[in-house]
Amino acid sequence: MAVAASLFAMTLVARKRGYEGMGGNTVVRCRSGHLFTTIWVPGISFKALRLGWWRFQYCPVGKHWTIVVPVKVATLSDEEREAAKETRDIRLP
Ligand SMILES: [Zn+2]
Repeated sequence: MAVAASLFAMTLVARKRGYEGMGGNTVVRCRSGHLFTTIWVPGISFKALRLGWWRFQYCPVGKHWTIVVPVKVATLSDEEREAAKETRDIRLP
């Protein structure tokens, strides 16, 4: 129960910081600057928070494995936001 409660709190904190969709669809940027939408599940985002926001995963834009970090949607241009929305990785957490 304590773990579930802290995961929930982490998700709320992330949302307050402007990371839209944390715990669901989240816009991320890879090390090469590619933007795409991925599912950031609470359990993994909790681990990612502890590791400093990053996570290792496949980038569907550059078709490579890389480190990705969540980006604040508000800091993106309209074009970047649209591109990120249209590019989604596989529908698995
Ligand atoms: Zn990439």
